[in-house]
Amino acid sequence: PENTVIKLDEFLAELCAMIKRKAQVSGIDFSCTVPGNTPSVVGDAGQLQQVMLNLMNNALQAIVERHGTEGGMLKVATLADDRGHVSIFVEDNGAGIPPENMERIFNPFFTTKPPGKGTGLGLSVCHAILSAMNGSINVISKQGEGTIFKVSLPVGR
Ligand code: ADP
Ligand code: MG
Repeated sequence: PENTVIKLDEFLAELCAMIKRKAQVSGIDFSCTVPGNTPSVVGDAGQLQQVMLNLMNNALQAIVERHGTEGGMLKVATLADDRGHVSIFVEDNGAGIPPENMERIFNPFFTTKPPGKGTGLGLSVCHAILSAMNGSINVISKQGEGTIFKVSLPVGR
């Protein structure tokens, strides 16, 4: 991996522009709330992009599964704390994750999608990439209501 300083506001603005078009196709209300003073992180931008795309694509799939093309919502936001970490939230109002699956979603090859639709590798790759960046990934979900993934990374400056 090639580590550089990643300006999260610019990085996420570019990524969100890509996802916005995908969301629009499915009638999803998409918002990206990334203040200009969001701190930077250090890492491989291509790898962090892969993390965010995995999370956003999972969210889009869960939204369409529940809502079809009407009533979906996807929010991306950042929040810096005062202990040297910045968090990126990906929140959807999709199908949600049943409690019995919560322990397994980060396992390689765990998928609830039909063959050809999912490899079950997305979240395990996210976890590995973020661990290597000294970061973490957490999830809160309610079946039938939606899901929030929280990516937390050390501030790079
Ligand atoms: P894949 O997308 O190929 O199934 P992932 O590792 O990306 O593999 O995700 C594993 C599983 O976690 C998915 O099959 C799905 O059951 C669940 N999941 C992940 N993200 C979401 C989400 N935003 N909403 C609901 N379920 C999710
Ligand atoms: Mg996936």
